[in-house]
Amino acid sequence: MGEAPGNCARDPRAEAVVAALNGRSIVLVGIMGSGKTAIGRRLAQRLGLEFVDSDAEIELAAGMTIPEIFSRYGEPYFRDGERRVVARLLSEGPRVIATGGGAFMNADTRARIATSGVSLWLKGDFEVLWRRVRKRSHRPLLQNSNPEATLKKLIDERYPIYAEADATVISQEGPHDNVVDVAIGALERHLGLSETNMTGGEGESALESVVVDLGTRSYEILIGDGLLAQAGARIARLAPRAAAAIVTDENVAHAHLKTLEDSLTAAGVRFDHVSVAPGEASKSFAVFETVSNAVLAGRFERGDLVIAFGGGVVGDLAGFVAASVRRGMRFVQIPTSLLAQVDSSVGGKTGINSPHGKNLVGAFHQPALVLADTACLATLPQREFRAGYAEVVKYGVIRDRAFFEWLEGHWRDVFAGGSARIHAIAKSCTTKAEIVAADEYESGERALLNFGHTFGHALERIVHYDGSRLVHGEGVAIGMACASRFSVRRGLCPPEVAARVEAHLKQVGLPTHIGDIPGWQANANAILDAMFQDKKVVRGALTFILARAIGDCFIAKNVDPGEVHAFLQSELGEARTAP
Ligand code: NAD
Repeated sequence: MGEAPGNCARDPRAEAVVAALNGRSIVLVGIMGSGKTAIGRRLAQRLGLEFVDSDAEIELAAGMTIPEIFSRYGEPYFRDGERRVVARLLSEGPRVIATGGGAFMNADTRARIATSGVSLWLKGDFEVLWRRVRKRSHRPLLQNSNPEATLKKLIDERYPIYAEADATVISQEGPHDNVVDVAIGALERHLGLSETNMTGGEGESALESVVVDLGTRSYEILIGDGLLAQAGARIARLAPRAAAAIVTDENVAHAHLKTLEDSLTAAGVRFDHVSVAPGEASKSFAVFETVSNAVLAGRFERGDLVIAFGGGVVGDLAGFVAASVRRGMRFVQIPTSLLAQVDSSVGGKTGINSPHGKNLVGAFHQPALVLADTACLATLPQREFRAGYAEVVKYGVIRDRAFFEWLEGHWRDVFAGGSARIHAIAKSCTTKAEIVAADEYESGERALLNFGHTFGHALERIVHYDGSRLVHGEGVAIGMACASRFSVRRGLCPPEVAARVEAHLKQVGLPTHIGDIPGWQANANAILDAMFQDKKVVRGALTFILARAIGDCFIAKNVDPGEVHAFLQSELGEARTAP
């Protein structure tokens, strides 16, 4: 028996979705643990529709539990019953139907859903799913000696089929209401509702959505090809009647500003822009002052928006301007470099550099929306793309071995563009969103994101942030390789771990040794000295992120400077001396 709709007030978006369904049902598909029942129930409530769980219907009809059906009659018998139950439920719509993980694998069921329903795939990463299902004993398919491998195998087999669903939503940790919001957005897009006006029409490719769950400061990251042309409509919807102060740099302005401005004009958003010189030098007090004054001179009010339109430099600078001007304006990140799309635009760290070191002056200030248009990457110089890829690799090494392995096999596709690139960006953002949601102000776990950065920042500082010699992502690549080798030296992991990290970075053309930096001359003392300016220095002690294995990094506090010095000397081939 289905669950009757609640009496909650219906909102106009919900009403529009229900009207556009025209009697069809919404069918949630996805693997076990993706949250189909919990999300389906909330979605039904929000839309004022009946909710029904096909597994519960099967149990009711059979008078026994699913594990019992499996053990008594076997899987084929169950699948046949499932097919018939889903067909019946579809014929009685409109409602929200949560299906069992295998239901959508049946071609007949898929065909029925295509005519009588709208399918919505709740797509979960292995780690998220495994966390949710490993303690449950009622999953018949996991009742074997290696449930972890079984879940991985099911993901491999089923995801290509689930990908045929009409819409996709990433299933992640956090309040169900956020996922429901994203689901409604995905349904609106599929049903050609308000978002049709934002799509720019033909040729639209997959759109991935990730939510950063921070309570009242939660926001969505959208990743897709061609999003820039929709920015005006999305911003108008986010902040009706707000004006927008665009902060960009000259390279990005040259390549993409017109598209952004045209979309703001079309959406009736008043705007002005200020453009800074490209490069790290713009994260300075002087440029911060110029941009802040430009926003004030443009009479942008507290309720207006700052749009950070560029790479990580513009994002950090504009975010800090937004955090500071009029004691805090809302801001939207439209990242245009790979590094910014996978890392710096997410998580709310904003700031500028001081002569004393990098990112030493700044604020935590979360954006209200992140729009990552992968089409913008077409004009990004290859060297910058490669540097941004270092941060993508970082997520695999710190937390997700399967993703690292996927990158080893698919990096060429990521570099080529298309869906593999969108996947890599969405995956990176999902990991970053989870870490930020768990530790917004970096009192613990968030420091993992600094893997490779203690080394990298020191190297950047020594070359005076000269991008012709070393850009940020290259510093991170060398830093990750160093941190991995340092982990081996400390006996934390076998040499194969460092060798594998280094091999992948090298394979894509990233530097992995300090000596790879053109014109390098500084010695171990200078690097150690620069490290002491790191934000992670606590009471004079150094902190590093070190590796136990690929996918398993941890925060090592109080690392002995003498040990670091000896390691740096060995890296540089120097004779051993005390620091
Ligand atoms: P960047 O902003 O300097 O961009 C790199 C270069 O690419 C610049 O010359 C820029 O003009 C150009 N560019 C950007 N997008 C382009 C496009 N679509 N087409 C053509 N050219 C384009 O550097 P970055 O690598 O994006 O970011 C590095 C910065 O990010 C550093 O300052 C770093 O400290 C910061 N960062 C911040 C965080 C955070 O959490 N806030 C995280 C990581 C890095």
